Amino acid sequence: MELQSTSQFSTNAATPLTDVFINIIPTNPVKAMANGDMLPLIFFSILTGISLLMVGRKAAPLIEGVEVANEVMMKMVNIIMSIAPYAVFALIAKAMAELGLELLTQLAGYVLVLVAALLLHLFGTLMFLLKLFSGLSPKMFLQKIRDAQVFAFSTASSNATIPVTLRSVTKRMGVDNSVASFTVPFGATINMDGTAIMQGVATVFIANVYGVELGLSGYLTVILMSVLASIGTAGVPGVGLIMLSMVVVQVGLPVEGIGLILGVDRLLDMIRTSVNVTGDAVVTCVVAKSEKELDMSVFRDSKAGEVEELDIDEEEEEELAEIIHKTEEG
Ligand code: ASP
Repeated sequence: MELQSTSQFSTNAATPLTDVFINIIPTNPVKAMANGDMLPLIFFSILTGISLLMVGRKAAPLIEGVEVANEVMMKMVNIIMSIAPYAVFALIAKAMAELGLELLTQLAGYVLVLVAALLLHLFGTLMFLLKLFSGLSPKMFLQKIRDAQVFAFSTASSNATIPVTLRSVTKRMGVDNSVASFTVPFGATINMDGTAIMQGVATVFIANVYGVELGLSGYLTVILMSVLASIGTAGVPGVGLIMLSMVVVQVGLPVEGIGLILGVDRLLDMIRTSVNVTGDAVVTCVVAKSEKELDMSVFRDSKAGEVEELDIDEEEEEELAEIIHKTEEG
C-alpha cells in the first residue's frame, strides 16, 4: 500500500528477534511490570501459575485474590471502553486532519484485506486442516457449527459463546463431553486465530500509514508477537485491540496508530470472534477423532441435536444457566 503521510514521526528501533527471545526471561519481574514489558510478564505469570498449582491447597486464597484482581481490571477496562466512542471521534478527527481523506480509502482497504484473510482462514485453512487431520466433511461441519458462529458474531465474545460451542460439538457433531469440556473452554481462552490475523494485518497497516518499512525480521516479529498477543487476549469483546499494542510497540510503532482502526473494530471483532470459535470447534473435532471420542453416526446425521430436539431437563437448564452466568461474570 502506498501512502503519502504528512505527519512527522520517528520510530524507535525495533528489537532484533533474538533479543525478543532472550528478553522473555525477566531479570527483574517488578521492573517488567513497571515498564509494561508484556512478554517477560507473561513468562513470569505462567511460572507463578505453575508454582501456585504445585503449592496446592495452601495457595487457594492467593488464587482467589488473583481472580478478584482480574475482575477489577476487567471492570476498569469496561469503564475506560465506555468513553471509547468519544476518544475514537477525537482520534479519527485528528488523523483525518493530519493525513487527509486518503485515510478513509485506506481504512476500506484495511477492512477488505482483513475480512478476506479471515474468510480465507475460515473456509480455506481451517477446513483443510479439519479434512487432513480428521477426515471429517467440512460441509457437514460448517452446517453444524453455524449456531455457534452466529452467536459469536452477535456477542463478539468467545467466552460467552462457550455453552453454544459446547452444545454444537457434543450434541450436533457427536464429540464426547470428556474431550469437549476441556478443549472448548481452553480454546476460547487461548486459541484466537482470527485475533492473531487481525493483529498481523493491523500492524502492517499502521506501519504503512506511518511509512515504516518493517523488513523481514519485522514481519517475523509481527507473526510471533501476534500469535503470543492473541494467546493473551481474553475472549471478550475488544480485547484483541488492546493486546495489539503489544505487537505494535514491539516493532517500534506508535501505540496511537491503533486509534486509526478503533472506529471500524467492532464489526471486525464480530467476524474474527466467529473465526476464533470455529477454530476451537475444528481442534475439538480433530482431538476427538484422534482419541476415538467422536460418534460418527451423530456427525453424519444432519438433523442430530437440532434445536427442536433439544429437551433440556431442569437440572441441565440450571447447569447451563450457571455456565452462562459464570462466563458473563468472567
Ligand atoms: N472478541 C474476541 C473473542 O472473544 C477477542 C478479540 O479479538 O477481541 O474471541
